[in-house]
Amino acid sequence: MNVILELRNASYRYRGGTLALDEVSFAVEHGRSVGLVGESGAGKSTLISLLLGLSAPTAGQVLFESAPLSLRDRAQIRTFRRSVQTVFQDPYSSLDPRQSVGRIVAEPLRSLHVARGADAAARVTEALTSVGLPPDAAGRYPHEFSGGQRQRVAIARAIVCHPRVLLADEPVSGLDMTMRTQIIDLLAELGETRGLTVVMVSHDLSVVAALCRHTVVLRGGRVVEQGDTAAVLGSPREAYTRCLLDSVPRLPVA
Ligand code: ADP
Repeated sequence: MNVILELRNASYRYRGGTLALDEVSFAVEHGRSVGLVGESGAGKSTLISLLLGLSAPTAGQVLFESAPLSLRDRAQIRTFRRSVQTVFQDPYSSLDPRQSVGRIVAEPLRSLHVARGADAAARVTEALTSVGLPPDAAGRYPHEFSGGQRQRVAIARAIVCHPRVLLADEPVSGLDMTMRTQIIDLLAELGETRGLTVVMVSHDLSVVAALCRHTVVLRGGRVVEQGDTAAVLGSPREAYTRCLLDSVPRLPVA
C-alpha cells in the first residue's frame, strides 16, 4: 500500500469556536481515487484547505508520504506543492482573463521553480495536449474558450508539474451534462495514463460514483462512513448516506 496523503484524527476549530472537522481520518493511496462527499457545511472546504497545506489542523495530523506535514518545513512544502495540485469549481473565476492560456498553464512551473524557457514551453504543450486542447491554445485567452475547455485549461495547469495527487473541488458542477461527462472521462484517463490519483470533493454522488474507488462521507465535520465506493453508495449503512443518495435520482451504481 502506497499512501501519499493521510489525515490522522485531524480536527479543525475556527477562531470563532466552530469545530469544522472532528477527528477525521482517511488515506489517499496511489492509484485509488477518493471521493469526499457531504452537504453544505459538512466541512469539505475546510478539509480541502488541510489537504492543500493551506492551513494546519488544530489537532491531529496531515501526513504527506508518511511524514507529518509541517507548513514551516520549506523543503517539504516545496515537494508537497509540486505533488498535490488542485482544480477549482469555477473555470471562469479561476483563470486570469488578462493572461494567455500558455502563461496560465506555465504558472506553477515558474512559481515552483520547476522549469523555464524552452523546457517550460515544451511542458505546457505536453499538458495542453494531454487535456485534449490544441497546442495553439497557448497563445489564446480564456474568454475564447467554453466552460468545459476552460476547465481543461485549469486541469492542464494542475498537471503541468506532474503531480501525484489532483485535488478537484466540485470540478464539474458549473458545467452542462455533456461537458461533465467529458471532464470526468478526462480525469479518469489522466489517472490511468499519468499515475495521477484524483481526490474529488463533491456534493454530487453520481460524479463520485463515476470516478472514485473510495468514498468518504462527511457530516457535521465527522466521517460517518467510508470504504469502497460500490459498497458505500451501493448499500450504505448510514441513514445520512441514504438521504444523500435519495437526492440523486439516476445514480450509476446498483
Ligand atoms: P462545506 O465546504 O462542506 O460547505 P465548510 O468547511 O465550509 O463546509 O464549513 C464547515 C463548518 O465550518 C460550517 O459550520 C461553517 O459554518 C464553518 N466555517 C467555515 N468557514 C469558517 C470561518 N472562516 N470561520 C468560522 N466558521 C467557519
